[in-house]
Amino acid sequence: VDIAIVPTGEMQPSSIGHVIILRNVTPYKELDFAKTNFIANVSHELKTPISSIKITLDLLRNERVGDTNEEQRGLLDSIREDADRLLKITGELLNITQVESGKIQLNIAGTSPREIVQYAIAANEMQAESRDIRLQVEENEIHTPVLADSEKTAWVLTNLISNAIRYSYDHSIIRISLEEHEQGVRIAVTDSGQGISQEYKEKIFDRYFRVPGSSREGTGLGLAISREFMEAQDGTLTVESELGAGSTFTIGLKKAV
Ligand code: ADP
Repeated sequence: VDIAIVPTGEMQPSSIGHVIILRNVTPYKELDFAKTNFIANVSHELKTPISSIKITLDLLRNERVGDTNEEQRGLLDSIREDADRLLKITGELLNITQVESGKIQLNIAGTSPREIVQYAIAANEMQAESRDIRLQVEENEIHTPVLADSEKTAWVLTNLISNAIRYSYDHSIIRISLEEHEQGVRIAVTDSGQGISQEYKEKIFDRYFRVPGSSREGTGLGLAISREFMEAQDGTLTVESELGAGSTFTIGLKKAV
């Protein structure tokens, strides 16, 4: 039930007292729930055929079913990019339904941060290659396990690297570093792309917010979901950035011991 208390004095300076309005919002909540469920189901249904399209494209691209010429390979690459984008959007829609319904399902366990990094790099390799961007891992032998939901954390890191690629320039380098400190492990993704102005540094974590004039298409959902996923598992997601110079997005994870 929504309760609004309106001080009548604000409407008529001479009167005193309050008007209490009670409104039953149950039907709206039910509608909201049905909408969230519908979005989750449709996104889930879309994921399988899009994944099949990607596999088929890879078979064609890698010439497993016959030779292709350069022009055809170019066309296949552009279809694959679109398939990747569709998959990214369906993943975001699926995850935002979890966030909006307040039901982030966590599966916390001792996890290797290095494996999370390896997974996220593999997931972005083709996207980076197509723009001649190098994903450079700064190795520093960290084997400390962290307490995390490995699937969600891998999703967050994949998303951060994907953003770093999307908002960087062709032929640039993206650095991914692992750093251990007293309570945990930090994974940082540094790009030398377009950067984010001070004004928008916190706003980018709001749902649907996109920096005006962003160079790439997107939903504005990735970072909002990422921060919710990190905070739900007692972790952090922060950004340091300078407009025109680049950005560093850092996730913080707690040590398992
Ligand atoms: P999307 O990329 O789909 O718009 P995100 O939530 O991932 O949504 O990002 C929100 C906004 O933050 C983006 O629209 C972009 O303007 C900005 N942004 C995110 N990552 C970077 C980055 N690495 N460099 C510069 N801007 C970024």
